Amino acid sequence: MSYTTPDHVIEEAVRFHGHVCPGLVIGIRASEVCLKEFGHNNEEPVCCVCETDMCGVDAIQFMTGCTLGKGNLMQRDYGKMAFTFYRKRDGKGFRLLLNHDALGAEHAESAELLKKDLEGTITPEEAERLAMLRERTRLQILDAPIESLFTRMEPNQYIPRPAKILETLICASCGEGIMESRSRRFDGKILCIPCFNKVEQKV
Ligand SMILES: [Zn+2]
Ligand SMILES: [Zn+2]
Repeated sequence: MSYTTPDHVIEEAVRFHGHVCPGLVIGIRASEVCLKEFGHNNEEPVCCVCETDMCGVDAIQFMTGCTLGKGNLMQRDYGKMAFTFYRKRDGKGFRLLLNHDALGAEHAESAELLKKDLEGTITPEEAERLAMLRERTRLQILDAPIESLFTRMEPNQYIPRPAKILETLICASCGEGIMESRSRRFDGKILCIPCFNKVEQKV
């Protein structure tokens, strides 16, 4: 096994995420690189840009302390298995892109079965096969040397700006408070995004 995360931490990450899956371990392995090079956010402020909305994002949050709520995890959902970590102190960063081969030769079959599973058309035999394939992929990802799992490159994203405290405005339509940077203006009135979308659709 080439992963460096203690087994009990993996178990806690699984508990946080809610199930065992290959996606989560992709995030665990990416987090290992951040922890090794920059450390945990509690010791050394780091931030992360995830280019995916898949399970691995939960591992990043659990393992590195880069979280959506703190604003040091940015999700730009480009549907890419890529994670960029920055150290805030000096802006140093790197991007990890999952090598597609790392998912194994059976990935296409897995994806096909997963689609059937989501559509509810999977047979019990296929479901069993899918579970077996996913477990195999999960172990392969844990096993893989980090250099074969990810291609490491320079960041291609802007360093995210720190969260700013902005004024609260009141939406002229629903009366709810909104952060200034999320407000919209229509016909001279300040609106929240949902109310703005409503008037915009009517026009
Ligand atoms: Zn998952
Ligand atoms: Zn509103």
